[in-house]
Amino acid sequence: MTMSAAAQHSPDPAIEKTPLERYVAPATPSLIGLARGELADRLGEVGVPERQRAMRVRQLWHWLYVRGARDFAEMSSVSKDLRDALARQFTLARPEVVAEQVSADGTRKWLLRLPAEIAGERAHEVECVYIPDSDRATLCLSSQVGCTLNCTFCHTGTQRLVRNLTAGEIVGQVMLARDRLADWPRQGGPPEVPDPRAGRLVTNVVMMGMGEPLYNFAAVRDALLIISDNEGLALSRRRITLSTSGVAPLIPRAGAEIGVMLAVSLHAVTDALRDTLVPLNRKYPIHVLLDACRNYPGLSNSRRITFEYVMLKGINDSLADARALVRLLKGIPAKINLIPFNPWPGTIYECADWEQIEKFSEYVFNAGYSSPVRTPRGRDILAACGQLKSETEKLSARERLALRAMAMTE
Ligand code: SAH
Ligand code: SF4
Repeated sequence: MTMSAAAQHSPDPAIEKTPLERYVAPATPSLIGLARGELADRLGEVGVPERQRAMRVRQLWHWLYVRGARDFAEMSSVSKDLRDALARQFTLARPEVVAEQVSADGTRKWLLRLPAEIAGERAHEVECVYIPDSDRATLCLSSQVGCTLNCTFCHTGTQRLVRNLTAGEIVGQVMLARDRLADWPRQGGPPEVPDPRAGRLVTNVVMMGMGEPLYNFAAVRDALLIISDNEGLALSRRRITLSTSGVAPLIPRAGAEIGVMLAVSLHAVTDALRDTLVPLNRKYPIHVLLDACRNYPGLSNSRRITFEYVMLKGINDSLADARALVRLLKGIPAKINLIPFNPWPGTIYECADWEQIEKFSEYVFNAGYSSPVRTPRGRDILAACGQLKSETEKLSARERLALRAMAMTE
């Protein structure tokens, strides 16, 4: 590679930061988040003969992901010797919950502590949010501690990227949510669970917490494959949405290797504006991003891409923007998700006026797009997806009151 080519390929720190740390597995690692093949290897390590491994993997998978076992002792169909051998070398640990907040509207937010690379360093924290609704209940998962990207309206974007989450830490968020919600088949119930999906409290998953999921591709893929595995957690791929800020070259791989629903954080209709709101646009401009969307595997009128559009007062909320948005998305099976901007201390942006959001939404709706305005949820606990791990302690009393008042009037 010539010098100039190398220079061209080195990341622009204004667009992408480099992770500071790698994950270092604890001495006794958790089995959560391992693919079936990896689980078989671990069984080999504790002496299970090869011919028995497939059967043992099936049993473990059932205990882990259908039953939600938290202790090897619960695994009554596994021999005591094997349970003891597993318990000596592994755990069934989920990420550690350090705080739980419950909003007046039923939204729950869990603050999770993840180990740091250097022992003794302050542990890392990410959040996971549960948002119950009338027809569904959505769990919003984080994929990274912080984010490598610097979207100017996003609180996560102001934080440095500390490290990527592992597949186990991503699947672990679903496990601990179901633990906390008592969302596993009843203990002591019949040995067979007829339909693991029936009556579940977590019905949908969105990768819309902290981080850019496509910049942690392998772990996010492995985790989502486990979450959608029919013999385990069994969430349909249509009920899982991966949100990206627009990593265009990885969109085809996301479709081919994960196959979940796609959401794209568009937020602007011109490159000039998107360059400032979502700086990754300088690398993958709007036409490149939309081309990748047009070719998203499996795209159809019944499997549309959701375009997210955060409503920023005086920045992207005019009716001219709405018209341009409709023109831009022509020909792509799409839904448009208008998100009221969720302010955070220190931001230069304001949320568009409610009236303006309604006018914008009406225009888009009349042009034939479903355009739900994402109702802010859990504002009293600052739980909106995309604005996780807000430093509530930094809010003044007046700001807290204002947020609470907003939550009450919505
Ligand atoms: N990194 C991914 C997924 C996480 S963010 C992405 O950018 O798509 C999930 C969504 O919340 C994105 O559409 C993001 O742009 C939006 N978002 C971020 N900060 C926000 C804020 N303060 N108010 C409203 N939406 C925000
Ligand atoms: Fe990262 Fe998404 Fe926030 Fe942009 S909007 S900084 S990609 S989390």
